[in-house]
Amino acid sequence: VARRIPDRMEIVGMSAHRNIDKIIEAAREFKPLLVCVGSEADVEKVRAGVDKTTRVVAGPEGLLELATLPEADMVLAAIVGTAGLKPALAAIEAGKDLAVASKEILVTAGEIIMATAARKGVQVLPVDSEHNAIFQCLNGREASGIRRLILTCSGGPFRELPADQLATVTPAMALKHPTWSMGRKISIDSASLFNKGLEMLEAHCLFGVPIEKVDVVVHPQSIVHSLVEFVDGSLLAQLSHTDMCFPIQYAVTWPDRLPSQQPALDLAQMARLDFEAPREKDFPALSLAREAGTRGGTLPGVLNAANEIAVEAFLENHIPFLQIWKIVEATMQKTAFTASPTLEEILQADAEARKIAAEMAG
Ligand code: MG
Repeated sequence: VARRIPDRMEIVGMSAHRNIDKIIEAAREFKPLLVCVGSEADVEKVRAGVDKTTRVVAGPEGLLELATLPEADMVLAAIVGTAGLKPALAAIEAGKDLAVASKEILVTAGEIIMATAARKGVQVLPVDSEHNAIFQCLNGREASGIRRLILTCSGGPFRELPADQLATVTPAMALKHPTWSMGRKISIDSASLFNKGLEMLEAHCLFGVPIEKVDVVVHPQSIVHSLVEFVDGSLLAQLSHTDMCFPIQYAVTWPDRLPSQQPALDLAQMARLDFEAPREKDFPALSLAREAGTRGGTLPGVLNAANEIAVEAFLENHIPFLQIWKIVEATMQKTAFTASPTLEEILQADAEARKIAAEMAG
């Protein structure tokens, strides 16, 4: 996106965790002022590979420096887990608009993030394709006009798999997503529907809508990225190809729309769009998310943390697929609950939930 709209977007900082060769390549092209990597051990290698004008830092402290870089107007947070939480909050405190790609930030600390953003008068812009779609449909309208937010869901690789076969699915089967090409964690989340559960919680915080007004519909083609149903019964939807360049560009150029080189959507060629109800009983992630959103507090973060541990254990072949839901459900019951947590209490609950989930995952 930055390559295509250089007049509107300049990258002044970037980060990577362990993908060192890629960040060197990207830093050579975009010449940012600052690059942050996960480990101090990689700093020298990156420094040797990039321009002298690019400083290189590492670790959580480095991320905070990156997120508050004076030259930046907007920070795009795309870090898996809770590592992005403090940098995201620091960016908002520093008066920067926050574009959110990682769900964890809003799922675990949505209330704090949204309240801080309101206090600082900065925008929180969704990059997750579903939320970006809703953001486009809402076009600045108040939450009071919303009857329902409807998140579309591809259904994942097991959409049509009989329930009794879910017990024997392997990581390789779960990693084959029908419409999006994504990282390992999110691919498993997409197969278990926890991705959609997390997105329900994300939408609930981001748009200030009660969780019971956030619905999910399965749409295997992934062309309608989500819909808003207004109080008068009208539905607005956003449609485009499955390409993250669309939501990223819109978040960056909002409220403007800029020409894009993405191919146009050929409706006649596509011919049909299908919708069906999610299999909530076979895929309990949605009801667990609804419970977490209803009780709020530390519970959404606990769901997220337990799921991360369970997904890792599944990918390592330590637990069967069905166990992911069971571990999350049990961790939600066992972890101490706080109704109006501070950021520290959220991180504490996160750590406790990880420990409880890890014990169950063996
Ligand atoms: Mg999404």
